[in-house]
Amino acid sequence: MAGVYIHIPFCRKACHYCNFHFSTSIQLQDSFVTALLQEIDLQQNYLLEPVSTIYFGGGTPSILPSANIKNIIFRLQKNFIIENNAEITLEANPDDITEGKLAEWKQTAINRLSIGIQSFVQEDLRWMNRAHTAQQAFDSITLAQKAGFNNLTIDLIYGTPTLSDEAWEKNVKTAIALQIPHLSCYALTVEPKTALAKMIQQKAVGDVDTEKQARHFELLMQWMKEAGYEHYEISNFAKPGYRSRHNSSYWQGKPYVGLGPSAHSFNGTSRQWNVANNALYIQSLSKGLVPFEAEVLTTEQQLNEYIMTSLRTMEGISLQNVKHSFGKDKYEYLINTALPHLNHQHLTIENDFLKTTTAGKLLADGIAADLFVL
Ligand code: SF4
Repeated sequence: MAGVYIHIPFCRKACHYCNFHFSTSIQLQDSFVTALLQEIDLQQNYLLEPVSTIYFGGGTPSILPSANIKNIIFRLQKNFIIENNAEITLEANPDDITEGKLAEWKQTAINRLSIGIQSFVQEDLRWMNRAHTAQQAFDSITLAQKAGFNNLTIDLIYGTPTLSDEAWEKNVKTAIALQIPHLSCYALTVEPKTALAKMIQQKAVGDVDTEKQARHFELLMQWMKEAGYEHYEISNFAKPGYRSRHNSSYWQGKPYVGLGPSAHSFNGTSRQWNVANNALYIQSLSKGLVPFEAEVLTTEQQLNEYIMTSLRTMEGISLQNVKHSFGKDKYEYLINTALPHLNHQHLTIENDFLKTTTAGKLLADGIAADLFVL
């Protein structure tokens, strides 16, 4: 079981908080698609297993003409063994979602949409500099459902200065009422070199209120539990049968190939990443070369990645796995470093799995860093 990630590096507008690789100039779009098709051919031997998930992320994949999406999937089918029931997700922004586009996507193999809603509150969307309105956010979901895309996920952001507790409740409960089977909810983070970081530094907007974020996260967990969603990863909630297979395979350490500028690949022991520059990416592929750098992961790095990702999941860290794959010394080191967190009831051990408690979920990334093997 392996995954394919395709990075589409274009957006209509730059959201203030975003630090992903993208360009708002779409001049290079056609040459990018040519380069991407070329990269698919060149990377055909990267994966040894059949592909069970394909994920179009970005950037904003819904910007691409549907004919391009069709061609990309066709090229993947030509170069990789794609399982019949593969999960194929397209990230789409509400302002791109129309009846026409949905009908076109239905003609492709796409069977899951990930809609970048972020908020149903107009003031909040404006603060984030999103390209869509609150009405478009709402309409995009109902249009997608009408077109037969029932395997839907949406992203929501909490903890922004413009989002009151009441507005956050409205956002989450709107998603629940719309019967969206999967939600990804992220606390707003201020990444270095973003417009938001600059605005905070210049005091043009207030800094992030971490207490409010913690409160929003706690409320979120409560509402989602009441509504029957599984909290299967810190930021992800799913109705039974609707977990993201693609993201789950990242967290399980399965191999994947990332195609497109800035995309990362992982084959079990080494990681590689493409150049995060559209022009250089296109130039290199025109000469038949994939522009990437790579590193072979040490045993410690592999274990730390396993700790980082699995501690964020509902299942937690398999202590058996640590003992068998990384040895008794590493297992004992892990148990010892976990002790203070076990004593504070931020971690617990159940059926030989080390996992976060509800209180510990708020602190998961910090706890994982404490558990890292040096
Ligand atoms: S649409 Fe997504 S990728 Fe593009 S700028 Fe906004 S958050 Fe970043």
